[in-house]
Amino acid sequence: MGNIFVPLQLTHNASGIYLHPLRGADEMLVEDVSTRTALLLLENIVHRVNPEVATGTFKVADIVTADRDRIFAALYLSMYGNTIQSTLTCRHCGSPFDLDFSLSSLLDHYQLSAAGSSEGVYEIDQDGRFRLPTGADELLLTEFSETTAEDFLLSRCLIKGDITKIGGLVQEKMAEIAPVLNLAMQAHCPECGTNQEVHFDIQTFFLTRLKQEYPQLIREVHRIAGKYHWSADTILNLPRHLRKQYVVLIESEL
Ligand SMILES: [Zn+2]
Repeated sequence: MGNIFVPLQLTHNASGIYLHPLRGADEMLVEDVSTRTALLLLENIVHRVNPEVATGTFKVADIVTADRDRIFAALYLSMYGNTIQSTLTCRHCGSPFDLDFSLSSLLDHYQLSAAGSSEGVYEIDQDGRFRLPTGADELLLTEFSETTAEDFLLSRCLIKGDITKIGGLVQEKMAEIAPVLNLAMQAHCPECGTNQEVHFDIQTFFLTRLKQEYPQLIREVHRIAGKYHWSADTILNLPRHLRKQYVVLIESEL
């Protein structure tokens, strides 16, 4: 398992990004599910960027949010496969039930469309122009509440035009061109038959999974250190799949 390549369809100054496989040291960075942490993780695993315009000045915070979601989807696919599985608690009867769906079907359904952009700028009409939100925009958001946040992002991304007149239209366009993988889904409780809305966000889902694996990561380091007497640093710098293969070998010898 080598580097993975993810095209950046909407990010105007890079056409794609190569990522190293995750190492334990990268996994340990994930202490929460914030965009700040998401960017820190990507910064650590970027191997190479395919530049289009701004060579050398590219930062992962410049990646359009919808493109970044596809990066986390690609990482998820390479590490865990296609099935998104979670256990929910029914809001009506309190029973736990499983919700499974295919990540690749979700990606097929929410496709990106870079058509109509000139260097990342989209035109509504001659009086309205906008660009798409990026991680750098999101980082500025932390102190705002959710409604204010939406307006704030919109006003940052509106290059020309009156927000009170075309704000709604710009938001619609953004959702059409650059759907984020942060959505409401319908789930059906098999116990009581009630349908309910659940929220899914690929970045939160992926980072939560890594964060939950922390105790397992420590056990794997402990196992390998006990067998080979390598330093924790050495083990934490092994690619994740190799680390897991060592643990399988050690356990098969017991
Ligand atoms: Zn129920």
